[in-house]
Amino acid sequence: MNSFFFLDKAARQWPENLAQVQGEESWTYRQFRERALAIGGNLLSLGCQPGDRVAFCLANSPRILEVVFGCFAAGLVVVPVNARLHAREMAYIVENSGAKVLIHGGEFQDAIASNADLFCGLVARVCLDDAAGTEHFDRLLYHVNALASAREAVPEDICWLFYTSGTTGKPKGAIWHHRMVARMVMNYLADLHNIQPGETVLHCAPMSHGSGIIALPAVARGATNAITEGASFDPDALLRTVERLKVSHIAFMAPTQIVKLLEDTDPARYDLSSLRAITYGGAPIYVDQLKQAIAAFGPIFVQLYGQGEAPITITGLTAAAHARLLAADDPRIGSAGQTRTDVEAACVDADDNLLPPGKPGEVVARGEIVMPGYWNNPEASAETLRGGWLHTGDIGYFDEEGYLFLLDRAKDMVISGGNNIYPREVEEVLILHPDIAECVVFGIPDVYWGEAVHAVVVRREGATLSDKDVIAFCGESLAGYKKPKAVDFLEALPVSGYGKVLRREIRDTYWHGHGSRIGGGAGKRAGKT
Ligand code: AMP
Repeated sequence: MNSFFFLDKAARQWPENLAQVQGEESWTYRQFRERALAIGGNLLSLGCQPGDRVAFCLANSPRILEVVFGCFAAGLVVVPVNARLHAREMAYIVENSGAKVLIHGGEFQDAIASNADLFCGLVARVCLDDAAGTEHFDRLLYHVNALASAREAVPEDICWLFYTSGTTGKPKGAIWHHRMVARMVMNYLADLHNIQPGETVLHCAPMSHGSGIIALPAVARGATNAITEGASFDPDALLRTVERLKVSHIAFMAPTQIVKLLEDTDPARYDLSSLRAITYGGAPIYVDQLKQAIAAFGPIFVQLYGQGEAPITITGLTAAAHARLLAADDPRIGSAGQTRTDVEAACVDADDNLLPPGKPGEVVARGEIVMPGYWNNPEASAETLRGGWLHTGDIGYFDEEGYLFLLDRAKDMVISGGNNIYPREVEEVLILHPDIAECVVFGIPDVYWGEAVHAVVVRREGATLSDKDVIAFCGESLAGYKKPKAVDFLEALPVSGYGKVLRREIRDTYWHGHGSRIGGGAGKRAGKT
């Protein structure tokens, strides 16, 4: 089955429903289907063959879903690229995927033109604006080349390469085929949030990533995918859009966006009565912040935990589960939820032995949502999928009832004096301090301890907190060996294009000139970057 089927069906059942809206621009399902079939046919006419890769690097707009479904229709493999990447990083993904066509916004033209040698493998570049050396996006809409219908596909046909956002090492392309996409759509509707026809789903996070994936179940249900305007995240504009369009569901928010929403807006000033769900994930949210978010917006938060290698997803916590756990003052509100219906997950030790509940180890998963491997990378595929399990590189433990508590990325664990310390545990304490706005904890080289626990803290405006205050505060609730040995202060923490705190970027400044991150500790460190 070709995943274009979801759009085909929506266009037949709800032809005049609004499919996409951004500002003054709007398209019905009938129009969306026609445009996608035109894009698919025109990509073929530019010289692509079914199975070829087509990359796009586009700021959020209706073009993204048109290109995704255009590629599905033509049997092409879509390669979304984060629009916040540098031209050289974009070039790496284009080259690694062997993309024939790159579709990009006018804002990238100069950077691409001045790195032209890096893009020489392309057959064509397509730009949303008039730009030298490119085809205009309108060229993809020529009627004469439009497909009459989508190409037949078998479930194992590759349709998507999802490049990991690893903050170290080069990104790897997780392969998705049509069966995974169909599973992803069903899983989201069945296990996380059941989008209904005619509802409006709002996108305020990059649609090359989680938000764009959650657009697919919305298409399958004939819901409207509305997209906020403007390049940067604007909490006030977001809530005004919710009010104006009677949005029922915010597709995806990174925890950093939720925190900004809490800090910069007063929900009482808006009519948010239509809002039934806000999905978040991609990075940990601290329990205290989650509780504040529920207090401010109601029990409408849906958490997902997964990764590009197992999209939508491994575990989840529905809005109802959040409400139940919060009412019972149950600490599992801080978990990543339970394993989804058709996924098997467990934790393993460094030798890949399955661990009993309560014992921390690397989270592994298997099931139909797991990728078949990485694009052109048999070594990484074999390593990550060894023993038939996806090795996530995340450390966590399951409790007796199957709730997953994530501790950290395996490579973020600090090994100090032979003790394993999970930065998240220390951060959960720090964030409770009224003078701390943001924090990040990691290990730094130390001749005696191997690694020493180190905190970088952003003070709230006007606060005069000292390093000693921070360490003493940790001492009130953490074992001595987990307390930061030293604290530095920053004005703000750097975040990635997907809103994840760039822990390793900050940490690496402390490791400059040290060959190995692993000091004298006794623990064994494993996992992906
Ligand atoms: P990506 O493949 O870019 O989506 O990144 C996946 C990684 O983000 C996971 O392996 C986790 O380390 C992290 N992640 C995703 N969801 C969550 C979550 N709900 N809580 C904590 N970390 C998460």
